[in-house]
Amino acid sequence: MTQSFGVIGLAVMGENLALNVERNGFPVAVYNRSREKTDAFMEHRAGGKNVKAAYTIKEFVASLERPRKILIMVKAGAPVDAVIEQLKPLLDEGDIMIDGGNSLFTDTARRAHDLEAAKFTFIGMGVSGGEEGALNGPSLMPGGTQSAYEYLEPILTKIAAQVEDGACVTYIGPGGAGHYVKMVHNGIEYGDMELIAEAYDLLKNVAGLDHNELHDVFAEWNTTPELDSYLIEITADIFKKIDGDTGMPLVELILDAAGQKGTGRWTVTDALEQGVPIPTIIAAVNARIMSSYKTERMDASQQLSAPSVPFMGDKKEFINRVRDALYCSKICSYAQGMALLSKASKTYGFGLDLSECARIWKGGCIIKARFLGKIQTAFIENPDLPNLLLAPEFKQTILDRQSAWREIVAYAAKSGIAVPAFSASLDYFDSYRRDRLPLNLTQAQRDYFGAHTYLRTDKDGVFHTEWTDLN
Ligand code: NAP
Repeated sequence: MTQSFGVIGLAVMGENLALNVERNGFPVAVYNRSREKTDAFMEHRAGGKNVKAAYTIKEFVASLERPRKILIMVKAGAPVDAVIEQLKPLLDEGDIMIDGGNSLFTDTARRAHDLEAAKFTFIGMGVSGGEEGALNGPSLMPGGTQSAYEYLEPILTKIAAQVEDGACVTYIGPGGAGHYVKMVHNGIEYGDMELIAEAYDLLKNVAGLDHNELHDVFAEWNTTPELDSYLIEITADIFKKIDGDTGMPLVELILDAAGQKGTGRWTVTDALEQGVPIPTIIAAVNARIMSSYKTERMDASQQLSAPSVPFMGDKKEFINRVRDALYCSKICSYAQGMALLSKASKTYGFGLDLSECARIWKGGCIIKARFLGKIQTAFIENPDLPNLLLAPEFKQTILDRQSAWREIVAYAAKSGIAVPAFSASLDYFDSYRRDRLPLNLTQAQRDYFGAHTYLRTDKDGVFHTEWTDLN
């Protein structure tokens, strides 16, 4: 019993988190189902470090100090349950199992419920930042048994990314709260990536920027308080990468069909279940789906044309308008994500602190950005803020920049360039800000064909009309 932290699963995330924990002064024990990975890890990465390899799960458990703290970092889904079942007979009351994979929050809620009923403690922890974050400081979103978090806090606060107001970790809430917040983080990440892709499309295919110019624009945007972020930074880098074989910018040689692992779809599914509009994130998921229809799109491109509108404007002016449209759209996307978290907090009893969610995303994770500080402030100033669009900072920003945003969306429509996330964001803004939408007609239709009844604006009560009776 010499090691203070255990890691099961030595693929890229498990390895890097184990090294991060050890580097921060906590002796680590590791175990992987197949022996070869453990041997390779010990030989190539863990040599000379305070890492103890175990080749049976029993040996692994026996090497850990009590209460045992065990991070499970295996493929999400059935493998997590399989590992928990193997651990259960070997653990004592108070030992802590942590699932750090990308588990579906309902699976985490089920596991937390079952394990707590059996007197175990369980933490479902979202981990963001990819392999680099895992090694050097991720953003961590732990939820589950609150008493267990107190034992983990000294370790988690050391291994997490550090920002000016602390470590990028906090106890998120009970049950599946941690994995829920990580899921919405990923949905927001989908939105950010799609918005950046649309800005690139407009700059390249409307204004005709080459890759050096694209690099310069994104590098410059990355110096601004609005857009300074990890995703803008890596986008600038990407435009600089030249393919050794062809001398072309590598990004132009990459097949335009984006993959997805499911967390964006989960976010959309739960938002629909809860009745929270997240059109920008839905547009981003749809854009990836549409991108996968490559063969069909190639065929359609030969048959369906759009007007060709030559670019006559001022390049610099156009770039600034795209920047404003990107920022306004990004605000709408985060407004949707935060509104979803707010609703989920009530539905599932998570008790989320939205300012803390924004704070722990300021470092370590894929969506890290200076702009998250403004979201943090908005929710500190008003924890019950119904929508980010109503926070003074964001309200004023959008009012100041909306004309550029509208011009860009209109220009894209006229030129036949799809900007699904830019337009979905603008539609969100315009729907949210209107006191009367045309859905009165929808209600009339529903009452007409299905006697679904309607409410009136001028008197109380529930009404039904015989619509074909003209008297
Ligand atoms: P992974 O490819 O998702 O999973 C491979 C690991 O799972 C291996 O250690 C494998 O063991 C183990 N495993 C699979 N089935 C098992 C079973 N039935 N019993 C025991 N172990 C089993 O690994 P990863 O990319 O490091 O990701 C780990 C988790 O973190 C996943 O949930 C992933 O979604 C999440 N995540 C990944 C990233 C990322 O950037 N990669 C970022 C954040 C979160 P064997 O070697 O024996 O096959």
